[in-house]
Amino acid sequence: MATSQRRAAILGGGIGGLTAADALLRSGWHVDVFERAPSLPTTGTALGIWPEALDALTTADGDGDRSRRIEKLGVLQETATLLRWDGTVIGRVDGLTRSPVLLSRPALLEILAENLPPGLLHFATPGPEVSELEDYDVVIASDGINSAVRDRLFGPAYRPVHTGYAAWRGWVPGVTTTASESWGPGALFGITPRDGDLTNWFAAVRTPPGRTGGAAELRERYRGWHPAVRDVLDRIEPGRILHHDLYESPPLPAYVRGKVALVGDAAHAMAPNLGRGACEAIIDATTLAALLSEHPVSEALQRYDRARRRRTQRLVRASRAVARVATASRFTALRDRLVGTAARVA
Ligand SMILES: Cc1cc2nc3c(=O)[nH]c(=O)nc-3n(C[C@H](O)[C@H](O)[C@H](O)COP(=O)(O)OP(=O)(O)OC[C@H]3O[C@@H](n4cnc5c(N)ncnc54)[C@H](O)[C@@H]3O)c2cc1C
Repeated sequence: MATSQRRAAILGGGIGGLTAADALLRSGWHVDVFERAPSLPTTGTALGIWPEALDALTTADGDGDRSRRIEKLGVLQETATLLRWDGTVIGRVDGLTRSPVLLSRPALLEILAENLPPGLLHFATPGPEVSELEDYDVVIASDGINSAVRDRLFGPAYRPVHTGYAAWRGWVPGVTTTASESWGPGALFGITPRDGDLTNWFAAVRTPPGRTGGAAELRERYRGWHPAVRDVLDRIEPGRILHHDLYESPPLPAYVRGKVALVGDAAHAMAPNLGRGACEAIIDATTLAALLSEHPVSEALQRYDRARRRRTQRLVRASRAVARVATASRFTALRDRLVGTAARVA
């Protein structure tokens, strides 16, 4: 007897949603992606893509083509230097067996979307209510940190909470070949290479939510930091700066409910200090798609929850801890010795 094609509704066409769509299509599912934005973004800052995420894409693709292209288009970050705010060295991270690749969000999304046939990615289309998706066997909520689906399924108690930090990020013209992160009391500043012959930068500052500010405020905040930081801040062009208050998810009791699975930031938004959020969204999506191709939906969702919840909730806690250590004001000499030693043995 011929079996009918199974159908997935994917709410949110960001990193997790596009990865899930591609992986499910490859295993024969019908897929519809509902994305509220009118198109894929054309500008954005760099994301560090760790080897585990590339491996997950390779496994999903079978041929490793997209991982190779991410590596080719991006910049391999083989070394990174940790500095104090005054430019003295805390430690160097090098000799990693495999290093992350730095690639801009638009370039990554384009690669993730490139195999999706026309008509399947519905732009400018907010995700319908789950109750309106009766025709679908599974619903994947990949609608990001402010997930409406998560709110509806789990209620306001599981809305992300402010981490105590805000981030600014952007890019300036010109190539840098080195990556550094500088730590000072209540703030950090990172400078990395990225694709497109540009230099990527990010700043995180301990501050209550709702504070605004642009390049002028950042120049003031980082006045007195070492010259490389001030040089990047001096070169910021108008309109090339993004500002976000940073939030993290409280631990959800489950990543699945009924026929709905949450992936990526909808399930486990985390502070960006370990650079893992997008990577974990990719791994969630490929894990879920593989399980859905092997098992009935309800079993696949339970297995997905078991495979992903504990690990990603641990990363939320670890990212928070790193943010605190990096922006500490007290015991910094001890911190720097410990971190310097850890970096040497990494
Ligand atoms: C400062 C900063 C630096 C970061 N650096 C890194 C890094 O180096 N490496 C890394 O791995 N991660 C990094 N991250 C984290 C990463 O950006 C996120 O974890 C990742 O984007 C999550 O992917 P996602 O698919 O869950 O959500 P998103 O990529 O946010 O996608 C969600 C999508 O859903 C859509 N959407 C939302 N609501 C609806 C709706 N109602 N209907 C339809 N569509 C909807 C949105 O338009 C969006 O396209 C960083 C984050 C920040 C803030």
